[in-house]
Amino acid sequence: MLRIYNTLAKKVEEIQPATPGIIQMYTCGPTVYRDAHIGNLRTYLMADWVRRSLIHSGMQVTHIKNITDVGHMRQELAEAGGDKMIMAALAEGKTIQEIADVYAGRFFRDEARLNIMEATVFPWASHHIPEMITINEALVANGHAYEKGGNLYFDVPSFDGYGKLSNNIGGDLLEGVRSEADPLKRDPRDFTLWKAAEPGRDVKWDSPWGEGFPGWHIECSAMASKYLGESFDIHTGGVDNVFPHHEDEIAQSEAAFGNQHVNYWIHAQHLLADGAKMAKSAGNVFLIEELIERGFSPLSFRYLCMTVRYRHRMNFTFTSLKAAEKALTNLRHRMWLWSQEQADNGHAARYASEIDEYQRRFWDAVESDLDLPTALSLTWELVRSGLPGRVKMDLLLVFDEIFGLELDKAPAENSVTEDVITTLQIRGGHREQSDFATADSIRGQLASDGYLVEDTAGGTRVRPKTPLELRQEKWASVSSSREIKSYLDQPAELDFTYILNAYGYPSDVKRCIEGMLNHSGDHKVEAIVVDNGSTDGTGELLEGMLTQHPELRVVHCDHVIGDAASKNIGLMQSRGRNIVVMDGSAEITGNILDSINQQLSDPTVGIFGPWGLSTPDMQHFHEEVDSGDADAMQAYCMAFRREEINNVGLMRECFRFYRNLDIDYCFQFKDKGFRVVADASLPLVRHEHRQWTELDDNQRDELSRKNFGRFLKRWGNRPDLLIAADAVGFENQHKFHH
Ligand code: AMP
Ligand code: ZN
Repeated sequence: MLRIYNTLAKKVEEIQPATPGIIQMYTCGPTVYRDAHIGNLRTYLMADWVRRSLIHSGMQVTHIKNITDVGHMRQELAEAGGDKMIMAALAEGKTIQEIADVYAGRFFRDEARLNIMEATVFPWASHHIPEMITINEALVANGHAYEKGGNLYFDVPSFDGYGKLSNNIGGDLLEGVRSEADPLKRDPRDFTLWKAAEPGRDVKWDSPWGEGFPGWHIECSAMASKYLGESFDIHTGGVDNVFPHHEDEIAQSEAAFGNQHVNYWIHAQHLLADGAKMAKSAGNVFLIEELIERGFSPLSFRYLCMTVRYRHRMNFTFTSLKAAEKALTNLRHRMWLWSQEQADNGHAARYASEIDEYQRRFWDAVESDLDLPTALSLTWELVRSGLPGRVKMDLLLVFDEIFGLELDKAPAENSVTEDVITTLQIRGGHREQSDFATADSIRGQLASDGYLVEDTAGGTRVRPKTPLELRQEKWASVSSSREIKSYLDQPAELDFTYILNAYGYPSDVKRCIEGMLNHSGDHKVEAIVVDNGSTDGTGELLEGMLTQHPELRVVHCDHVIGDAASKNIGLMQSRGRNIVVMDGSAEITGNILDSINQQLSDPTVGIFGPWGLSTPDMQHFHEEVDSGDADAMQAYCMAFRREEINNVGLMRECFRFYRNLDIDYCFQFKDKGFRVVADASLPLVRHEHRQWTELDDNQRDELSRKNFGRFLKRWGNRPDLLIAADAVGFENQHKFHH
């Protein structure tokens, strides 16, 4: 039986079902006015592994996973300033319910793609308003809730056990930072059971306290008790649910029913991405759909999650996902080969002790607080062992009851066509006649048609390559700037290196590259274009351009690695004495390189470009510097000497979005005593900057705010670096502060 960390007991405990043979389990489900990202899905995978392990122990598991379509919808919508998609859907006349249906449908699809077992019931919060009201009434009747201004609050001091799950007794702390404390509450820890509808609200219900809608926590108390009873075995969620959601759920349910609500609380740690918290504003939120777009099989994410204990933070990177996909393909590939071997009835008896030992060690790992990393390494130990393929295959099929990796499926989805089978038979004929040259050339032809041919002792097998295998054949790609070799310690070999971070919009990219290469005159130039994980055809366009432009070099990234990381790849790979960093929206229309050469021959000049900025206060940057000294240069076009990179450093990769990165990098130069100089008469034009114009106001705010904060944090106390500093004596002020 599974032994697992119980957040309530604060230790690992063996699960003892309240009713022998039966497990009642509840999982806090998705909020369906947005997509569940792979972080959310990691938490659902954990619940799936818990469930599969209990099923293996012979338990009959009832698993409830709610769909949140009311509750914290409102609060989060307000925080997000109105999600673009929801606003658009509402404007089209879609109802909230229709929106919820769309996202719920996508959630079910993604769970199925990850082979997560379907819940026994997926109850919808909006269908359980009467049940929530009933619990609320019970809480009013027994003195645990009070009404104020049409709102109903849970009276936290009236419940003795408050804080037993999270150990968080100073709940006011959290609320204080989140929002203005609600003056209607008696105690800052009190939380909402029912909220009065504000004027104009259309999603609302009648209640004894007037029209309104339920608090978020009460929905889980209501649905859990309806489907599992007042007291049940297991409740799961992500660690962010521990407080306040689950703490409040315990208070409500136990105050209303008088029984212990849940025996085992199991919480999954968070998923981070590229080393940063997964967040929209960081541009590192990934959906299963996006992994598929990039050629991955969804189950490789499932595999990846098995490589880290559920109770540890997991940093998602595309490098690790690639490794997971490779391992999964490898396992399936071997299974597919072993399945060709003759079955042998004598195996079970002959290898009984080895088989038992593997089984014992495997289930022991799984049941030791869901130690899937150990279960996986045991799997590879088995794969490498000398046991017959068939024996390994049968064991792996048993392990797959937990893993859920569909190891019995061929590595690729598509099937092999009749034509391919015929070709393979012809090839077999050549092999029989020892005509290996012809056999090899047929194999090569099949490979370029997308098939992998493998000759084994048991015969020849063929399978289609997986989407990732095909993609990786198309071009090599990197997952981060750390995988790139730096030439910066070597002398320059060319006059100029142009660098372009291609973040999509193929026609802009093409225009920009042609502008660079058509106006390079007699200078020896190269253009390094970093395909920043595009999926809109930019990668293909660049590959196509390579043949016509020998000066062009392309680096593909397998996902959006961010603006600074992309540009750093260009910087590290550069071999030109001077560097010109461009944006796809700008176009060179004449000779700019002579002016750049001339300006950069002045050792006091650090950065030169057409469009300068100035600021009086570090807060507001104005596009007004057409010539002479500036405080910063805009990223549409900025030039500097390559040799200074080793002095000022690379760009700061926390800037995933372009905004303020240019200013930040200019300050790195200014900090080393260099000037930033502008000349707007350079022959360049600026076209629509689609990376900006295609954002809505909320997205702009969100993305800009973070980057501005990064800039200010580093340079806010350095007004001495501004050109205005001389005029107003910032220099002294700065010294004074130190
Ligand atoms: P929500 O849709 O926000 O209610 O979240 C659904 C589930 O995902 C909850 O159990 C959360 O605790 C969990 N969750 C949220 N963010 C993450 C993350 N980055 N990694 C893992 N789980 C998460
Ligand atoms: Zn919940």
